[in-house]
Amino acid sequence: MKTIGIIGGGQLGLMIIEQAHILGAKTICLDPTPDSPAFKISDEHIVAAFDDAQALEELCRRSDVVTYEFENIPSDLLIALEKHIKQGVRPLFDSQDRVREKNNACENGLTPASFAEVNDMNSLVEGVKKIGYPCVFKTRTLGYDGHGQVVLKNDADLKKVAAYLPVPAILEEFIPFDFETSIVMVSDGKTIINFPIGQNIHTGGILDLCIVSEPTENSPVGTYAIRPLSKSLITKIETLSKDFMRRCGYKGILTIEFFIKGDEVYFNEMAPRPHNSGHYTIEGCNTNQFMELCRFLLDMDLQEPKLVAPTIMKNILGQDLEVAKQIAKENHPNVYVHIYGKTESKPKRKMGHITFVGMDIDEYNEKWKSRFY
Ligand code: AMP
Repeated sequence: MKTIGIIGGGQLGLMIIEQAHILGAKTICLDPTPDSPAFKISDEHIVAAFDDAQALEELCRRSDVVTYEFENIPSDLLIALEKHIKQGVRPLFDSQDRVREKNNACENGLTPASFAEVNDMNSLVEGVKKIGYPCVFKTRTLGYDGHGQVVLKNDADLKKVAAYLPVPAILEEFIPFDFETSIVMVSDGKTIINFPIGQNIHTGGILDLCIVSEPTENSPVGTYAIRPLSKSLITKIETLSKDFMRRCGYKGILTIEFFIKGDEVYFNEMAPRPHNSGHYTIEGCNTNQFMELCRFLLDMDLQEPKLVAPTIMKNILGQDLEVAKQIAKENHPNVYVHIYGKTESKPKRKMGHITFVGMDIDEYNEKWKSRFY
């Protein structure tokens, strides 16, 4: 029986472990928080900081293969352990800095919004000259779910970012997109599979809903919002993304987020780990992102994902936790409530998600929307 080591014990670790167990593997998980969600079901665990070189080395020693579900691990520490990390350190390193990530995207066939490096007030002003208003200021590292981001509309807004400026940052063109989307791929080095592509709706910079359905033959440009995606757009996203993954030589799991404006496909960011927008795959597809990652880690053949029915995933943040628990008790058919078991619930903290299988956005809006914040 093989043991998968996982760096990170959050909900992604938890869901990797659920699938690893189905495939007959054991797990060991490393996280600094003693009551991490994943520790509840992992066979073994190590409580240690993500920059504790000795603990990372111990995790590798006690595992047959290692993966990461958390991105902010110092990649220099992992390089020494790379032979244990089947996916390698490169995709993690490339994703840890927004400027490096966007340069890498450009070099490998993808198109981000125009951007400029910002290190101080001078480079900020130069960046604004190049990009124009509106634009988005983001810290280069450690940003997630809209943290460290400010939309700038005019010169008066420049002072809003002054407080961040000792920190390296990036300025991006604001894309007035029709919608956001993402693709989750898994590569074993020979075959790249990908999960069905839907629309992602963010509220306050945090993913709120994923809406996935079979594509249509044609969706007229400009009317994409909350409609099935056209086959041609899906083919374009899949081709660009798989070419990118091949050109970069990445293996394992990779998610790429895009902004879609008409027929334009703008790279936003990537994550070399299971992704929140792929949670719908657990019940909405014949196989899921966590299972395929485990197949890759365990040297098993990958399985081609298929959508079983139109599906909606609703993220449950702290403010919706009680209603989610109530929905679970009501026991609705084809409604799957996942609660991650985090000990502290806060507004805006991801506490769980609900997957509605066999549902489109009209039915969701009519029957479910009003129950959430
Ligand atoms: P990020 O952390 O970069 O994924 O940004 C969080 C969210 O902010 C995105 O999912 C978008 O909804 C929004 N956003 C970020 N960058 C831009 C941009 N350049 N143009 C328009 N919206 C953006």
